[in-house]
Amino acid sequence: MNPRRQTRQISVGDERVGVVRIGGGLPDRLGNPTTPAPVSVQTMTAGYTHDIDKCVAEIHKLAAAGADIVRVAVPEKKDTQALREILPQVRVPIVADVHFHFERALEAIEAGVHKIRLNPGNISDRAQVVEVIRACKARGIPIRVGVNEGSIIERKDKQKRQKELGAVFSDRAHGYLLAIMIAKLEEYLDVFYEQDFYDIAISAKSMDAAITIDAYTEISRRFDHPLHLGVTHAGPKETGCIRSVAALSALLCQGVGDTIRISYANDPIFEVQDGLELLWSLGLRERRGVDLIACPTCGRIQVDLFTLVQDVRRELADKVTVPMKVAVMGCIVNGPGEAEGADVAVFAGDRRGIIYVQGERVANVPESEILGRLLAECLAFQERVRTGQAKLGEKKVAIVPPDPVGEIGSGWEKVAAELRREKPASLTIGKS
Ligand code: SF4
Repeated sequence: MNPRRQTRQISVGDERVGVVRIGGGLPDRLGNPTTPAPVSVQTMTAGYTHDIDKCVAEIHKLAAAGADIVRVAVPEKKDTQALREILPQVRVPIVADVHFHFERALEAIEAGVHKIRLNPGNISDRAQVVEVIRACKARGIPIRVGVNEGSIIERKDKQKRQKELGAVFSDRAHGYLLAIMIAKLEEYLDVFYEQDFYDIAISAKSMDAAITIDAYTEISRRFDHPLHLGVTHAGPKETGCIRSVAALSALLCQGVGDTIRISYANDPIFEVQDGLELLWSLGLRERRGVDLIACPTCGRIQVDLFTLVQDVRRELADKVTVPMKVAVMGCIVNGPGEAEGADVAVFAGDRRGIIYVQGERVANVPESEILGRLLAECLAFQERVRTGQAKLGEKKVAIVPPDPVGEIGSGWEKVAAELRREKPASLTIGKS
């Protein structure tokens, strides 16, 4: 992992909903130092904004799932009017997504929205853009600029600049596209700079993961604004997840990216859940809740592990908030090793489960009792962590796996004998 790229910092929100900072590391306009903010997770409501009650309920749901910022579409005046009723009811910063009609941006700003997203491809009139910039400046509201091929305000040296950039990118399969994106972004941002406006985030989404990686990489080298990462129109969750994670992981590992949105043709709650999981997996955010480890199963499987894993995941999702590691393993082969690394673990054998807490064996139960006992141990462990009686990641007992004689050798026989016992034994698995 490369260190985070240093950028200017923008702030989204207010005292009432909370302020989410995006990017950072470079001094602010007064010369005060800023620290890079944690990478934030954004999503967008799927319902109509003018359907006020449903919109508020959806925003609440997405915020409860962990969304740091929620965007809403405002295609019509009734949507920006609805913002006046929606904003006082929510507790998360709201972004107005504006296309085609710059008046929607002005109305949303007037309603008190916390950030504006402008599409250079469809709001390109310089005077209109200036009007939106001035309104945002007056209210201290940042703007996200998303560049795409449909852009934008003409500049005198556009052809020359594209030619120059085209030469720079000539070794890339999509070099010309990158040249257009950079040139158009440059000319759009010139309008902002002319207005002395720098509260800007940039996005350059593509539906192609490779183009997304190259576009953001090049933009990160040329502009010091924080970057909003995303793969647009990524598709259904099943494939969109891979496409998004491929692009976003590559960028985040380079230190590029300050806020992310994963977009699916599905309930946006999955965008939030998967965005958070991505950041947790890369160590870019402190995990909230269980870090679930489970084996993929194979011909050695000893219990119905797929069902057990889903049951554990579902049951613990709302009940555990401390970032404990829970391992669910199908047999003796990797079970002890994973159990050793986890706070709470079960590994199966002979249609039973041996349960460990901090490396200490606490139960040996039949398959039908594994779920209940594992959940009880997780909740009890969480309570001990909260009250300072236990620490995450600590081990009371080292688990030594069975000797390498093999599944049918002495190690396995010893474990199999242990599995047949109803009560926890004092012996540690694998120890002689
Ligand atoms: S833990 Fe056991 S059942 Fe699970 S994948 Fe590994 S060897 Fe197979």
